[in-house]
Amino acid sequence: METVVTTTARKPRIATVWLGGCSGCTMSFLDVDEWLIDLANMADIVFSPVIDIKEYPENVDVAIVEGAVANDDNLEILLKVRARTKVLIAFGDCAVTGNVTAMRNPLGTATDVLKAVYVDSPDQGGQIPARSHILPVLLDQVKPLHEVVKVDAYIHGCPPSAASIRKALEEALAGLVSQINESPDLFG
Ligand code: SF4
Repeated sequence: METVVTTTARKPRIATVWLGGCSGCTMSFLDVDEWLIDLANMADIVFSPVIDIKEYPENVDVAIVEGAVANDDNLEILLKVRARTKVLIAFGDCAVTGNVTAMRNPLGTATDVLKAVYVDSPDQGGQIPARSHILPVLLDQVKPLHEVVKVDAYIHGCPPSAASIRKALEEALAGLVSQINESPDLFG
């Protein structure tokens, strides 16, 4: 009797991540509209603000990361994303250059920023919020992703157009991003 052997190729595992940004880039991702259905057929979306997964998973193939690194929470997540992801794409100008998120940098350290906002700006009674461990701690300077971790590709724009997001993901999934070319078994 003839034995039929079937193989099932694993779908690429992709993620979208939201760090120190306004979510405009993530909203632009949703503007790819019907292509989201094609994407869902081509790949598994394993982590994203638009799905309810709390922990960034292991073995992610492609991650697009919105926003700059502005606080200790952003930093912890980005290091985890880098450690668990093959191709990390800086997604939008805040991730690429710091952009809007980094506009506070000229004010000085995190303490200088908090003082400028909470003490110097109100007409009266200003004070820096005293309760700790509720919100992430601000870093002294906001940084674009590439100043913290290795970045494999960049999508410019504030926000990037849906067409450029689709093109970047299509190229990543097709193996056109340089790191994928160097790793032919990337999507196994
Ligand atoms: Fe928002 Fe623009 Fe930054 Fe994207 S690049 S997070 S749209 S400010």
